[in-house]
Amino acid sequence: MPELVLHLPEIEAQGRKSYDLALSRAWLADAFEGTDLSVPDDAPEPPGRLVLDAQKAGDDVVLQGSLSAALLTPCARCNGPVRLDVSVPFTQHLTPRPAAGELPEELELTPEDLELEHYAGDEVVLDALVREAILLELPMRPLHPEGGCDPEVEALLAAAERRSAQGPLAGLASLKDKLKS
Ligand SMILES: [Zn+2]
Repeated sequence: MPELVLHLPEIEAQGRKSYDLALSRAWLADAFEGTDLSVPDDAPEPPGRLVLDAQKAGDDVVLQGSLSAALLTPCARCNGPVRLDVSVPFTQHLTPRPAAGELPEELELTPEDLELEHYAGDEVVLDALVREAILLELPMRPLHPEGGCDPEVEALLAAAERRSAQGPLAGLASLKDKLKS
């Protein structure tokens, strides 16, 4: 169920309109269902916000603003939760979705076309775009700050590193290095 919906007549009435939309706990949970992401228990309420200035430019809708959200993701090293406070600019240029019959027969898409998003009818639905903008901002390999990993896992990893440096396989590893060179 889309929650982040702008109604065009409201924007058109004054030429522009400002929005301050909540990204609720329920919205974030729903948007990132099936991923490792979750909302921290101690996140502010609401845990995310979308602050926007919306304007019409001809038939297009231009949005400028920012997006913030508090999320938890597993650390790539110790698997413990890492807090991510996402805060990014959110800028979109949306054009009306062409009706099926109006599509030119041969579509030649320029790079600019590929960046354009569409809206349909009187509504600009932002849920998917906001989800995508948050995902793009997340680190590929989230990590606790240096020394912030689960101490038990730190100890295990350190022990494993020592073993691999001195263990029976250490000789094999150096042999492999020799073969490579
Ligand atoms: Zn960690």
